[in-house]
Amino acid sequence: MPELPEVETIARDLASALIGQKVLKAEFLNTAIRENCYTREETDLNGKTINRISRRGKNLIFHFSENLAMVCHLKMTGRLLVDSDRSRDNKHLHFFMRLDKSDLSFYDVRKFGRICITAESELNQHPRLSKLGPEPFDITPAEFTDIVKRRSKSIKLILLDQEILAGLGNIYADESLYSAGIRPTLKPYRISRARLEILHGSIIEVLDVAIGNRGSSVDDYLDGFGQAGNFQNLIKVYGKTDQACPGCETPIKRIILGGRSTHYCMKCQK
Ligand SMILES: [Zn+2]
Repeated sequence: MPELPEVETIARDLASALIGQKVLKAEFLNTAIRENCYTREETDLNGKTINRISRRGKNLIFHFSENLAMVCHLKMTGRLLVDSDRSRDNKHLHFFMRLDKSDLSFYDVRKFGRICITAESELNQHPRLSKLGPEPFDITPAEFTDIVKRRSKSIKLILLDQEILAGLGNIYADESLYSAGIRPTLKPYRISRARLEILHGSIIEVLDVAIGNRGSSVDDYLDGFGQAGNFQNLIKVYGKTDQACPGCETPIKRIILGGRSTHYCMKCQK
C-alpha cells in the first residue's frame, strides 16, 4: 500500500502537471470505487479548476474552484496517473477526468481504492480525514513522545495506527525503528523519552529520504507519471528476512505483530 512518501510523490507529480487546468468531464466508469460521504456528483466537477493538490496521511486531496474537493485513497493497488484517453479501454480504469490540457485516470486491479467528491468546506469532517493523527512533520520530538507514551500497545503497532500518527505503513515503520535501534515489540513504558525523541528524528529522516527517492516500488506503486520509485534500493530491514543486517550481519528476523509482518535485527534493535 502506498505510504506517506509515495502519496506525497504522487501529489507533487499531479500538482506539477494539473494545477490550473479546468475539468471538461469527470466520470466514474465503475461506481464500486465511489465513496458516498458528503456526496457531490462527478458532474459537479465539470468546468471547475484544480487549484491545489495536497496530501493528508495516505489520502490525496484535490482542491477545486467553487468549494469542491475530491478525496482519494489508493489502498492496495490504486494508481492515479496523468495520461491520455487511449487507456480508457483498460478494464482496470475506474475513474477518469478529462482536463483542458491532459487527462487523469484512476486504475485499480483489486478495486479497494476509493474516491469521494465533497465540498472543500466539509473536508475537516470527512470520515477519512477527521480521525487522523498528526503528520510526523508537524509535531516536535517532545510532542511525539507525549503522544506515544499515552499508549499501551507495541511501538510498531502505534506507528501503524493512523489515528495516532498519520502516514506510516509497514515499510517506513520497520525502517524507522531499525534506524532508531528500537525493537518493534517494545511497549512505550519500556522506552525512555530520549529514545522516543530519537525515533521521531528517525521517522522524519527516513520519510525525507524516501520522498527524495520518489517512494518505494516494492509492490505495485508507480508515481503520477507511471514511473517506479527508488527507495526500495535503500531499504535495510523491511522484507529482508534472513538477509544480513547492514549494521552487524545478523540475519534479519521476521515476526508477525498485530497481523502484520515485521522485520528487525535482534542485535541492533533493543
Ligand atoms: Zn544488526
